[in-house]
Amino acid sequence: KSGFCESNSIFYSKRDPMVLPPPNQHLDVTTFISSQPHRGKTALVDAVTGRCLSFSELWLGVKRVAACLYSLGVRKRDVVIILSPNSILYPVVSLAVMSLGAVITTANPISTSGEIANQLHDSLPVLAFTTCQLVSKLAAAASASKLPVVLMDENNGVEAQAEGVKIVGSLELMMESEPSESRAKQRVNQDDTAALLYSSGTTGKSKGVMITHRNLIALVQTYRLRFGLEQRTVCTIPMCHVFSFGGFATSLIALGWTTMVLPKFEMSKLLSAVETHRPTHLTLVPPMVVAMVNGAKEINSKYDVSSLHTVVAGGAPLSREVIEKFVKNYPNVKVLQGYGLTETTAIVATMFTKEETERYGSSGLLSPNVEAKIVDPDTGRLLGVDQTGELWLRSPTVMKGYYKNEEATAETIDSEGWLKTGDLCYIDCEGFVFVVDRLKELIKCNGYQVAPAELEALLLAHPEIDDAAVIPIPDEKAGQYPMAYIVRKAGSNLSESEIMGFVAKQVSRYKKIRKVVFLGSIPKNPSGKILRRELKKLTTSKL
Ligand code: AMP
Repeated sequence: KSGFCESNSIFYSKRDPMVLPPPNQHLDVTTFISSQPHRGKTALVDAVTGRCLSFSELWLGVKRVAACLYSLGVRKRDVVIILSPNSILYPVVSLAVMSLGAVITTANPISTSGEIANQLHDSLPVLAFTTCQLVSKLAAAASASKLPVVLMDENNGVEAQAEGVKIVGSLELMMESEPSESRAKQRVNQDDTAALLYSSGTTGKSKGVMITHRNLIALVQTYRLRFGLEQRTVCTIPMCHVFSFGGFATSLIALGWTTMVLPKFEMSKLLSAVETHRPTHLTLVPPMVVAMVNGAKEINSKYDVSSLHTVVAGGAPLSREVIEKFVKNYPNVKVLQGYGLTETTAIVATMFTKEETERYGSSGLLSPNVEAKIVDPDTGRLLGVDQTGELWLRSPTVMKGYYKNEEATAETIDSEGWLKTGDLCYIDCEGFVFVVDRLKELIKCNGYQVAPAELEALLLAHPEIDDAAVIPIPDEKAGQYPMAYIVRKAGSNLSESEIMGFVAKQVSRYKKIRKVVFLGSIPKNPSGKILRRELKKLTTSKL
């Protein structure tokens, strides 16, 4: 089936279907992708130091690290956390963990220790991988639990300062070790959880999204149909996010691509890496595309970016104007837009060809094997072509559910397997998906998720705040920033800057509140739910 079927109001993908292994075959994603050739070729390059890992070294490293983890007692279903900036060793760690049938959970290296503590508390990891620079943050988050830690870089006297953790190994030594004991390989079902990536979904605080081996296998197959084999790219998006984890740490390894890895996004370093390593592709979030547009004149005169022919953009909306300006400034580069969620293991709609990229403003066609419905959010009625409503999706990449949270899972995935995205979209007569707005609370700042519920809980803990609501304000560079509507307690003179400072102390940079407006009361419906749309209207009228 392909296209729109009026009788059941389902949009079927127009792409050729992907080939998937039989669902009940025992198979983990690492076995699936390590069976591909590419031996001898370079898999990963540290764009700063120049250190390389070939595919043979990568897979040998994965095998050795897995054996060491097994001897440290890591077993199927155990959770292992990684708190690290991007590195060529990040995929080694995550693939090793998943190869055991254990579960990798990724923490954002710019998180505060309070935020990491929440993730530790929810996912209960048995072991952690981190760097010397981040170990004290992890230790503060782990408090007295003595979480076993493997250091991903050379140990420079960490032991003394890290009280909440216990250093049990070094990744470099693990990668050189000869496996001492043979381990009984535990069978992995495709439906077993491989990764726990955190997302707030349509409402509430951050939750663990259970991504299965089959989800990742389906993502790899989507990439296979979308991109060719063995190209060159630069990774600058954090690998803790699904967009980068599913792409650079999994799918592109399966396809034999060479990835130059930057620890974090810095425009000058990215451009130097492009000039030196001559990648064909870049994957960017919209604020990075905006930065390339704004700096185009200088970039084109200072750097040789002629190797690039494709920019893959996703994670947040990218306006038609920005794409037009980008294409004007970089005429040999096409911008492939994509749309996806952590809950769908990234891309569920995307562009493949140059012709498709000319549909500015659209996120492309539904990915292979994806089915969609457009549902009227007020009446639940199914809508047709060109009609705007909430996008529901069914796809082999849809998550298994939220970790230890059946209630949130049932609210998000219905009994027929439809995932409610919380995005307002329409699909045109040719099958192109257009994301119009966000129905859900989620705020996206520089491509990162900000959960209003988390900031509201912090604000409500302030002794002089009676009530609070957090909503987005648009920003040309970051996409959106969080702002707060506040009801002060009677007699309080709490100021905007005091409130912003109170939150800033407790959260990552991108979650900081940038504006405060005081109200007499927060508009709510009879059951006490914040009427965010009303607040958004109020904000728009004041901007
Ligand atoms: P995350 O789970 O962090 O990937 O965030 C998923 C959300 O990002 C989606 O539900 C959308 O609201 C937004 N998003 C992702 N890609 C796009 C896109 N191409 N256009 C508009 N919004 C997007």
